[in-house]
Formats: sequence, C-alpha cells, structure tokens
Amino acid sequence: MNSDLQRSNEELERFAYVASHDLQEPLRMVASYTELLSRRYRDSLDDDAREFIDFASDGARRMQRLIADLLEFSRIKTRGGRLEPVDLGETIENVLHDLQLTIRETGTEVHVSRMPRVMADPGQIESLFQNVISNAIKYRGDKLPIIEINAMRQNGFWNIMVSDNGIGISKDHYDRIFVLFQRLHGRKDYAGTGIGLALCKRIVERHGGRIWLESTVGVGTDFHFTLIAAEGQEKIVTEKHEEAADECNSENGIGP
Ligand code: ADP
Repeated sequence: MNSDLQRSNEELERFAYVASHDLQEPLRMVASYTELLSRRYRDSLDDDAREFIDFASDGARRMQRLIADLLEFSRIKTRGGRLEPVDLGETIENVLHDLQLTIRETGTEVHVSRMPRVMADPGQIESLFQNVISNAIKYRGDKLPIIEINAMRQNGFWNIMVSDNGIGISKDHYDRIFVLFQRLHGRKDYAGTGIGLALCKRIVERHGGRIWLESTVGVGTDFHFTLIAAEGQEKIVTEKHEEAADECNSENGIGP
C-alpha cells in the first residue's frame, strides 16, 4: 500500500509540475491581451463591457498566482538545494522586510526572540516563514495582529513557534488545512489558493522535521515546526573544511 501511495504521490507531483509549467505560457497570453484590451479600449466601452474585462483580468491574475504556487509546490523535492547552516534571525528579517507594507497597513506587531541556526535550504525556509507569517496577518479578525516568534531547543532539533492572536482554527480542521487546496473560507472572505500550508508541510518534512498547530477559535493560533539544529552538524562541516585546508596547505608546503 505504501509503494502504491508513493507512486500516486509521485504521479501527482509530475502532473502538478507539467500542468502548472505548461499552463504558464498560454495564461500569460490571456492576461496580457485582456490588460491590453482594457488599456486601449476602456474609454470607448460601456460599463458592462468594462466590468466583463475586469472579471477576465482578475480571473487570469488569480490563475497565475495559483499556477506559480503549484509550481513552487511541485519543485520542493526536485529543485531543493543542499541543507546548510542558516541563521533563522536573518531569514525572519528578510521575510519581515518583504512584508513591511502589509505589516504597516494592518498595524501588525511582531516580536521575535533570539533565533537559532538550523540546517536548511535558505530559499525554502524563507518561503515557510513567509507563508506562516502572512497567514497570521491575513486571518487576523477584528483585532490588531500581534505575532510572536520563539524557539525552544529539543535534543538535536529546534522547535519554532509562530503565534498569532487571530480568528483561530477549530480542532476538527487541524489535519485538513495541511492538505493541498483545502481552505476553510470562501474567496470573498479571504483571498488565497489553499496551497500555502501544504507547501509548508512539505518543506518541513523535506528538512526532516514536523509541523503542527494548537489553536483556540477567537483567541489565536500557534504553529509549531521542528528543524535540525546546526550545531554539531556545523562541526562536521568545519572539520571537513579544516581537513581540506590542511590538505591544500600541505600541498603548497605551508602546513605541518
Ligand atoms: P490559503 O491561505 O491560501 O487559504 P493555506 O494553505 O495557507 O491557504 O491555509 C489553509 C487554511 O488554513 C486557510 O484557508 C485558513 O482557513 C486556515 N489558516 C491558515 N493559517 C491560519 C491562521 N494563522 N489563523 C487562522 N486560520 C488559518
């Protein structure tokens, strides 16, 4: 059963890749020609026609977002880089910098405690934080969003916790939200593709960790994930470096 499941997962990944990759080009054409129509003929059209063009442009834009997300999802395993020591403090700083406009507009407060170094693919780990933090802002409800990011050491791992004071998630949906395309709200309430958390789960699992949540509806949500600590791993990398340096030095007649 396991090998059947693995095969069907691989087929799904291939399908997601081919579908999203090959759809990009024709969709770019639809998007750019509806834009052009709108720009060039907007003034000579009646209200109905303008509205129809806006619907078409909006649909094309949403489909582009969906395809970009799906393509990113299907590439996590195939295009992933090597795991290397990454300073999560820097990663979070980059993500907060990218989100600064949204943070300012929504009056979000973000508190980040001292962050560790973990073994990670820098691009993927940034994408993980980007998704979790922007969800914490998006699903904020009526309150001003407050986000706290903490890290706790557990054996060879770091347990990272991203907490918000948003709308919360009922326990019945804890598993469901990590499944591709599963959303708890309609597009009218909150925009989104339902890919973000499936992407996060896949990234964490590719890094040898686990992701889960604790939440109270109306109070807030804590997302937890574990990542391998860089210490110890770093030592191995440093030792290899030193070995290589020694070899290089002795070849050049510098070393012992
Ligand atoms: P999207 O945000 O595009 O819908 P995600 O996969 O990122 O997709 O999230 C899946 C669902 O999980 C969301 O539709 C939302 O209902 C719920 N969710 C995610 N993060 C939070 C959060 N911080 N607070 C409350 N609900 C959340």
